Amino acid sequence: MIDKVTQQRIIDIAQIVEVISEFVPLKKRGSNYVGLCPFHKEKTPSFHVSESKGIYKCFGCGKSGNVVNFLMDYEKLSYIDALRWLATKYRIEIKEIPLTEEEIQRKNERESLLIANKFAHDFFIQQLNHTDEGKSVGLNYLEQRGIRKDIIQTFGLGYCPSNHTAFFDAATKKGFKAEVLQKAGLVNKGNYDNFTSRIVFPIYNLSGNVVGFSGRRISNDESIAKYYNTPETELFQKGHLLYGLFQAKRAITENDQCYLVEGNLDVLAMHQMNVINTVASLGTSLTLDQIALIKRFTKNVVVLYDSDKAGINAAMRGIDLLLQEGMNVKIVLLPEKHDPDSFSKTITQQEFIQYLKKNEQDFIVFKLRVFLSDAKNDPVKRAQAYKNIAQTISLLPDKVFRAVYVKEASKLLNIEEQTIHDEVNTLLVKRLAQKPIQQKIEIRTTSSTPTLPAYIDDFYVEEMEKEILRILLSYGNNIFYQEYDETTETVVKSISVAEAIINDLLNDDLEFKNLVYKQVFQIIQQQLAEYHYIDEKSLIYHENQQVSEIVIDLLSIPYYQGKRQGKSDELSNYFKRIGIYVKNENDLLHEIVRQLLLRYKHKVLEIAIRESQKKIQMAQDSSIEDSYIDEELKRIHDLTQIIQSIAGHLNLVVR
Ligand SMILES: [Zn+2]
Repeated sequence: MIDKVTQQRIIDIAQIVEVISEFVPLKKRGSNYVGLCPFHKEKTPSFHVSESKGIYKCFGCGKSGNVVNFLMDYEKLSYIDALRWLATKYRIEIKEIPLTEEEIQRKNERESLLIANKFAHDFFIQQLNHTDEGKSVGLNYLEQRGIRKDIIQTFGLGYCPSNHTAFFDAATKKGFKAEVLQKAGLVNKGNYDNFTSRIVFPIYNLSGNVVGFSGRRISNDESIAKYYNTPETELFQKGHLLYGLFQAKRAITENDQCYLVEGNLDVLAMHQMNVINTVASLGTSLTLDQIALIKRFTKNVVVLYDSDKAGINAAMRGIDLLLQEGMNVKIVLLPEKHDPDSFSKTITQQEFIQYLKKNEQDFIVFKLRVFLSDAKNDPVKRAQAYKNIAQTISLLPDKVFRAVYVKEASKLLNIEEQTIHDEVNTLLVKRLAQKPIQQKIEIRTTSSTPTLPAYIDDFYVEEMEKEILRILLSYGNNIFYQEYDETTETVVKSISVAEAIINDLLNDDLEFKNLVYKQVFQIIQQQLAEYHYIDEKSLIYHENQQVSEIVIDLLSIPYYQGKRQGKSDELSNYFKRIGIYVKNENDLLHEIVRQLLLRYKHKVLEIAIRESQKKIQMAQDSSIEDSYIDEELKRIHDLTQIIQSIAGHLNLVVR
């Protein structure tokens, strides 16, 4: 390890143009340097290097980064080795701080497990597709189950041969130690393959690394477990992973909805029916960490279950946790004796998708009906049902939703609304009294796996967040406003563009929703509070890779749009894009900041109004008390007034 101070020195001293020039001939063009991209084949240069910003970006293939990233990418060095390379070049002495024994061990263990898993995955794929046994047993089985070739590829399915040491032999021949293979859960203590004669489903983490496997038995031999999963390892913790999330995450964001099914094959079947936004928990009931994972992409979950008794009971159990975490939960019951896999085989894709849409029902109402049909006229059971429902309703974080369901429950259970209402309130108060526990949950979900949704349903607001950051990074240190004292001839007050923007947003309690953007925003805020200045460089080299990536990306935008260079070019281009022509260059920054904030607030308000309308619709549909509706109506009224005044301001400018 290199100590932090030395790391910083290396980064401060390294000259990006000098370093990249050792590998790529660069030519000066305007304030930047350009050359032929070393990462993709091209005839005209689209690889840009900015000396002042310390970053590079290729507008052909999109590769971008700082000087350290360049060495990592081009020379295939690790982060630390890239720093060492620079230290040698610039003759900086490195003080190494040794990792503790434990740190080395953990790091080595994780790395060796990842490598072993990668090797195993390649081996299983090779066996499935290119050996006689793999084809006749494995592929044949998958074919019989109706799984398409492209799905087999997308999910990286493989096969482990029937010879009990086939994998072990191949791995040891490649130099893997038996101990590592055992630790990875690939072979057992006797060095026999754990996945023998099984179809192997790799399990990916969010960044696409294989961290474990789930093996499904092919034979009908009931004496062998149907599934064998990698045991818990340093890499593989079932409660932190969801099957299919890596493949589904984009579709979940796009649809703002996530289907939750039970098994691996169900996920595959859903994909095959073109319902890509589907995940499964790995044979466990849902955990808080898994919910937090989903929440990063959407708040809307649709749970698919078999409509037999066992399926329904299973559905009931996991879902309270989802509600408690503020998720909107719907349920789709499949025809009896069917799971998504088997059901999808009986109908066409179109019918399947229609079925899902048509049979989607609200979870709490569903739960009510199940309890009711169970209880029939049994008063004890009815009382039990009522307690249970009150419990579920009390978990909902939103007041209007609670009122809607109290009403619904009162109708169906034929119990006074007030009675249920009181019961719910008692439970709420009780839960508040147990605050420490709640706090604990919050800390867990916010620190390791954040709970705020990364994407809210309006795409444009995320775009606005991005735009605000871009302006902060590009023009934040420019002076926005200055007060000059004529008699003393000094500046008595000076506000930068960044301070103006941030003060305005904080005034309105506006918070970014995209977690990475939010983090960048907070770092900038801290820097301003401490130094009244945004330190671009520390952001470009931020230890959090996501932060540095976003910042580099945002900083690269200007010289893409303003090919002819110059800030004023970029600014006026920006205004042309949104249809405004400004005469004077000095007015540009003021106008840009004003526009930016107005448009951002406009979008946020639009969303808020839509949310309120949804709630009113819901309240009206179940005809709950007018007071709830009145409250929301008042809110919409207020919001509409503000939005109108903003629209007015925007119109004034857009002449
Ligand atoms: Zn390129």
